Amino acid sequence: MSQHFSNALTQTDPVVAEALKNEEARQQDQIELIASENIVSRAVLETLGHAMTNKTLEGYPGNRFHGGGQFVDVVEQAAIDRAKELFNCDYVNVQPHSGSQANLAVFFLLLKPGDKVLSLDLAAGGHLSHGLKANLSGRWFEPHHYGVDAESEVIDYDALEKQAEEIQPKLIITGGSAYPREIDFARMAEIAKKVGAYFHVDMAHIAGLVAAGVHPSPFPHADIVTCTTTKTLRGPRGGLILTNNEEWFKKLQSAVFPGVQGSIHSQVLAAKAVCLSEAMSDAFKAYGAQVKANAAKLAETLQNRGLRLVSGGTDTHLVLVDLSSKGITGKRAEVVLERADITANKNAIPNDSPRPPEWVGLRLGAGAATTRGMQEAEFEALGNMIADLVEAEAAGDTDATVARCNDAVAQLCKAHPSYDA
Ligand SMILES: *Cc1c(COP(=O)(O)O)cnc(C)c1O
Repeated sequence: MSQHFSNALTQTDPVVAEALKNEEARQQDQIELIASENIVSRAVLETLGHAMTNKTLEGYPGNRFHGGGQFVDVVEQAAIDRAKELFNCDYVNVQPHSGSQANLAVFFLLLKPGDKVLSLDLAAGGHLSHGLKANLSGRWFEPHHYGVDAESEVIDYDALEKQAEEIQPKLIITGGSAYPREIDFARMAEIAKKVGAYFHVDMAHIAGLVAAGVHPSPFPHADIVTCTTTKTLRGPRGGLILTNNEEWFKKLQSAVFPGVQGSIHSQVLAAKAVCLSEAMSDAFKAYGAQVKANAAKLAETLQNRGLRLVSGGTDTHLVLVDLSSKGITGKRAEVVLERADITANKNAIPNDSPRPPEWVGLRLGAGAATTRGMQEAEFEALGNMIADLVEAEAAGDTDATVARCNDAVAQLCKAHPSYDA
């Protein structure tokens, strides 16, 4: 046998092998509170590393441009069938390589260059693939953004309705990466209908909560829905596009391939099928409920410690802290948390500075740590540690607090291991 097939990574590439080993240890030893992350099952991990990665295919099950696709057809069809059942919709494309690619395919399907798009402002929790000037979506289409009410910090639907009537967009998008509240999909669909716009829900962050039945579904209100299979859905990196519109679906297939993508990532489609099957289980329903309970406990703890939360709380897995009253930036909080082995990220809050180094938001999410089995008690402890670290950072005296939190985090990690070492 050629060494090509027998040599282990440690023999052939010590640089990468060591980085992988270190990454594994980092994931074991840190508590992940980045809201867009999760920890996939052993089964998903195994699937991603499978030799199915070698198979090149273009097209769709039963209609491929290359031979030898019969087994990939099985996994792609399984992913399609499972996604349809899980999200209760008629048509699904499971091929997008990422959430951004899924959105790009939707634009390609529904819009012409220069068309007007109305989406949630980035600082109000939106996503850069929804019309940021530096993204293709903002360069090739005409982006407009709606925000949140200055008091409540939730979407101001009346203001949105007025804005939509003025702008007359072709497409209204909702969903985001830092919006902690449930969105009124029915109201938004009404507004879109009134102004003759298509209504697209990007449920990337909340797809797992929707799947678990602990968050309202965008169906039947949305014309088209995209999501990632990462984040709360707890699958491989990739995207999905879902719709009930038969007429669009045929065009959607060609918008994905050959519109914006080439060949499929075969092994990722297999991993999507695995995660979608997991998401149909009772265990996943319990997981979704626990994620919400944990995020609520985290929010309550932080508030009890005097930290202000954007919108005053959470309905999801996500909590957005406003650090402005503490006099520190999101970046400083991110750094001191990481020294204590808690990972999170700086984030803009509504009406924040346009400059990321000045942002005063800290975004937290409960998805990954809940996968490790942490519950309300652990999230209360985490909330208190975060408050302690923020106070220490604001006071300019962090060493003792970091050391104490390091020990507490190490104990939590040991009590809640992820993959077997
Ligand atoms: C994460 C996210 C995306 C992008 O997904 P990628 O897989 O990172 O490209 C798109 N939309 C929303 C709302 C997201 O949160």
